[in-house]
Amino acid sequence: MASLADIARFCDDLLRLHGFPDSNRALNGIQVDTKSDITRVAAAVDVRERTIAGARDRGANLLIAHHGLYWGGLQPLRGAHLRRIDAILRAGLGVYAAHLPLDAHPEIGNGALLARELRLTPTGGFGRHLDVEVGVMGNVEATPTLELVDRARTYAARYGGQVITSAIEQGRRTSRWAIVTGAGAASDSIAEAAERGVDTLIVGEGPHHTAIEAEEAGIVVIYAGHYATETLGVQALAARVSETFGIPWDFVHEPTGL
Ligand SMILES: [Zn+2]
Repeated sequence: MASLADIARFCDDLLRLHGFPDSNRALNGIQVDTKSDITRVAAAVDVRERTIAGARDRGANLLIAHHGLYWGGLQPLRGAHLRRIDAILRAGLGVYAAHLPLDAHPEIGNGALLARELRLTPTGGFGRHLDVEVGVMGNVEATPTLELVDRARTYAARYGGQVITSAIEQGRRTSRWAIVTGAGAASDSIAEAAERGVDTLIVGEGPHHTAIEAEEAGIVVIYAGHYATETLGVQALAARVSETFGIPWDFVHEPTGL
């Protein structure tokens, strides 16, 4: 048992959350306070009606999420936004969110943990965002790119996800890879991959034009799903909280299909 203030301080320090550059909409840290002692933690990728209900039904009074309550930006308390807030308050649920600091963390970050699942060993950061890097990169002994795609498929299937790729030439091999989870494919990340000699970029999702830009830059992009690539960090964070404070935790799995 612990207060939300104690748990939040632990998470903030672990993730070096303060000062980490992120979208205003991420609103990292405590998003909904509670004065109750925390007795059970739920972890989820997204704060949404389904995960709020899932946390409540499991008897949790803290929801730790990667995408918090405010991705829709500044909005009136009406419709779904009001229903979420109302359900959170009725359930007596605290909410703690960690976005880019949780993508980037070298041990419990989405990128580092996804690399491990794909049997890849990071040697450093990738995915420049202002003065930080939110992904990871590394080298691998020339491996058929299709084998990496298979590993990604096996992983994504565990979370109800599907994998698509940009064009892959027959016999192509990967020797230098990078991972940026979530919406990781963008003109910037493809340009960075080209500049840093990365031949295979593993992301969650990206716009249509990124498959073309990648092909023309000689890079393969493996789109392994936004949801699937961002399930690991929040579970690892909840597990750390659980170990440290002796509080049980559950993962509330609510895939978006993307
Ligand atoms: Zn995301």
